[in-house]
Amino acid sequence: MDLPHAPYLFFMGVGDYSITKDSYKGKEVSYYVEKKYAPYARGIFGNTPEMMKFFSEKLGVEYPWAKYAQIVGRDYVSGAMENTTATLHQESAYQTSRQLLDGNGWEETIAHELFHQWFGDLVTAESWSNLTVNESFANYSEYLWDEYKYGKDMADEHNMEDMQGYLMSGSDKKDLVRFHYADKEDMFDAVSYNKGGRILHMLRNIVGDEAFFASLNNYLTTNKFKAGEAGQLRLAFEETTGKDMNWFWNQWYYGSGHPKLSINYNYNIPGLPGVAEMIVKQTQTTGKVFTLPVAVDVYVAGNRTRYNITVDDKVDTFYFNVASKPELINFDADKILLAEKTENKVDENYIAQWKYARNYIDRREALDYFAKKSMPEIAKGLKDKYAGLRQFTIQRIGNTPYKTDAVVIADIESIARADKDNKTKAAAINYLVKNGGDKY
Ligand SMILES: [Zn+2]
Repeated sequence: MDLPHAPYLFFMGVGDYSITKDSYKGKEVSYYVEKKYAPYARGIFGNTPEMMKFFSEKLGVEYPWAKYAQIVGRDYVSGAMENTTATLHQESAYQTSRQLLDGNGWEETIAHELFHQWFGDLVTAESWSNLTVNESFANYSEYLWDEYKYGKDMADEHNMEDMQGYLMSGSDKKDLVRFHYADKEDMFDAVSYNKGGRILHMLRNIVGDEAFFASLNNYLTTNKFKAGEAGQLRLAFEETTGKDMNWFWNQWYYGSGHPKLSINYNYNIPGLPGVAEMIVKQTQTTGKVFTLPVAVDVYVAGNRTRYNITVDDKVDTFYFNVASKPELINFDADKILLAEKTENKVDENYIAQWKYARNYIDRREALDYFAKKSMPEIAKGLKDKYAGLRQFTIQRIGNTPYKTDAVVIADIESIARADKDNKTKAAAINYLVKNGGDKY
């Protein structure tokens, strides 16, 4: 190892291990596991070379080190640690082939630690205050890997879960970059990880994919083998996009909290024929007002018109010219906002949302509404293209009047027999045992 890196990333591991070897572009990629887990080492870590290729190409920066090893230790104080070329995982990484049938529960962590080899090890956070340049990226790499390997629905589900993790953490008052903390461990929280990852997701949407990854390349190549901080990331984005990004950094990196939005949609407004109205109120009580560029899709008679708008006042009113009453006005149509929201949408809006708006969150919101209102449309979720939403529907339909309908039972039975996703299959079997009658 003749390349410079930070002292806290040094690691030496000693133990009685079995070593399984793969390779990536001639570099050794190895998995150190206890002997009894040797038959499963590739099942757990075997996607690593593909991840190295994917991340190298996405960033336009080749995996920087001479080799990459992963080792599993017991009683480790943390989830995993991205030592340069030698990641240490805690024992939760251990899974047998029976467990792996339900999916690899450690794969996102494997992606996370690998991404640190660029964001953390090649360019290292200048201080714990700037931990975001390590952890928010590693967190977001989980989204990138899921999106590439398993599709956008799964990535969006992961995004939603991580957002909920932040929203439930009560971290409203913490800036992403913080210069005052009692202990450095305090920085390893739902703000540096979950919130930071969602901030990067919004940033990617705002500047676009091409500029986003070109900016990451700029940051990495400009600061490689040195320390980086959030300000340098901003400069990389500004140089790449030619845009001033201070507003975004001040709001999200050097500021705290998130928007709470109350959104009202109106039609048939006196004096305004052929116009639909959308009023967005920011109801957070912090006194802060967020600037939020978002897409809005207006659906009239099945046709979608997209508007790119910016919400930047405590109350903003938007007017859309429409030929007839919109079936749906879909605020934040790309579903990227880190926000809490309430909307005055009604049955027909959610039916249109299910029909036309195809993001994971669009469909999930609609299914959630159908379940809460005991609408028969809930059964449509059993045929969703994404296993996670089929499973979500199975969980929710048991509390509706349709739970023992013959069609519902038949659909769940076909999931139980042949679903490609084993967890969804298991949910269907459990459902039938509970609600399907004596036959099961
Ligand atoms: Zn990490």
